[in-house]
Amino acid sequence: MVERSRSSQLSGPLVPRTAFPLLMARDIAYLDSAASAQKPKVVLDRMRQFYETSYANIHRAVYPLSEAATEVYESARTRVARFLKAPSSESIVFTQNATEAINLIAHSFGGPRLKQGDRILVTMLEHHANIVPWQLLRDRLGLELLVAPIDGAGNLDLEAMDRQLAQGPKLVAVTAASNALGTRTPIKDVVAGAHRVGAAVMVDAAQAAPHGGIDAIDWDCDFLVFTGHKLYGPDGIGVLYGKPELLASMPPWQGGGDMIRTVSFAHTEFADPPQRFEAGTPPIGPAVGLATAIDFIEAVGWDRVEAHDKALTGYALERLQDIPGIRLIGAPQERIGIVSFTLDGVHPHDVGSLLGERGVCVRTGHHCAQPLMDHLGLPGTIRASFGVHNDAADIDRLADALVAARQILAR
Ligand SMILES: *Cc1c(COP(=O)(O)O)cnc(C)c1O
Repeated sequence: MVERSRSSQLSGPLVPRTAFPLLMARDIAYLDSAASAQKPKVVLDRMRQFYETSYANIHRAVYPLSEAATEVYESARTRVARFLKAPSSESIVFTQNATEAINLIAHSFGGPRLKQGDRILVTMLEHHANIVPWQLLRDRLGLELLVAPIDGAGNLDLEAMDRQLAQGPKLVAVTAASNALGTRTPIKDVVAGAHRVGAAVMVDAAQAAPHGGIDAIDWDCDFLVFTGHKLYGPDGIGVLYGKPELLASMPPWQGGGDMIRTVSFAHTEFADPPQRFEAGTPPIGPAVGLATAIDFIEAVGWDRVEAHDKALTGYALERLQDIPGIRLIGAPQERIGIVSFTLDGVHPHDVGSLLGERGVCVRTGHHCAQPLMDHLGLPGTIRASFGVHNDAADIDRLADALVAARQILAR
């Protein structure tokens, strides 16, 4: 009964389950939105409508259907610019996902500008997507990769980071929110500190995007990336934002159709950004879905999303603390709707599969952040991540399943 009164502090989901066809079709507690969000019906309907009534390849044809499809695609770009508070849609490049966007920056910004001995600064909180592209570049050009440490609670150690900034890195690649611990980093301060030493800054907003507060202009970052499928949109689309003067100065990274002005066998002139970076047929339908997903989440309202995150996280921490053997990993000052924990003496995967049998969907393992897990001395964690469809009942179901799993595993 105590539990019931606590859960009543949460007034149900922010968006009813009925808005998500998959959640209506399955009896699950979906606590894995940080890996991929489930898709709202409005997003699926809009994509279907686009394919059924307005679809054609874009940009080159002059027949009305293609012109209209081009307009829809370009208006999706404008919608994304508005989401990031970017002044112009020319600063928005559509990619396949956040990973591709980071590789694009490594190739077209890092490649031409960095030289042997230059430094790139990342942080201990980064996802593999924001580590490996820089390692590849390091090995190709002879760079040095610096790693900003974290404190015991999972916050960035800003003093240590300042000392590393004093070593004059040319580029700082930092996440706005950790997918493994949920830590929100003080991006605006980090960008300002990096700019003081002349470094360019790339912000990985893949996790921050679905939780709000993104403002590329206020942050003053040089680049920002995020991915559609974690923002209630489809997979197959990601976004690179870049300051227009930087994008204009960068060479393309893939060649092909759609990214050129003129081509002869002797010489090719490239199109201006963003087309320069969109070789081949882009993700047209996914762009339409992403624009609709942004409409969907912004109609909910970022204030409400943040309040809901806080309420769910607070309740989850309360419930988990009551379960013997549960160890919470990280206690960041500010966090998105993510809670990471372990169960003493048991591998996270074993817990994860028992939870899965009870319809509780959580992610277990290293969360594509192996260096962070190594630093914490853990093989991995169990991670519950929250979306607008979650409510106290999902967390109760997680807690009950954990108690049951613990009993089974203790036998
Ligand atoms: C998921 C994620 C990525 C990569 O996104 P993809 O869609 O897989 O490219 C990058 N960074 C963070 C923090 C993430 O959580």
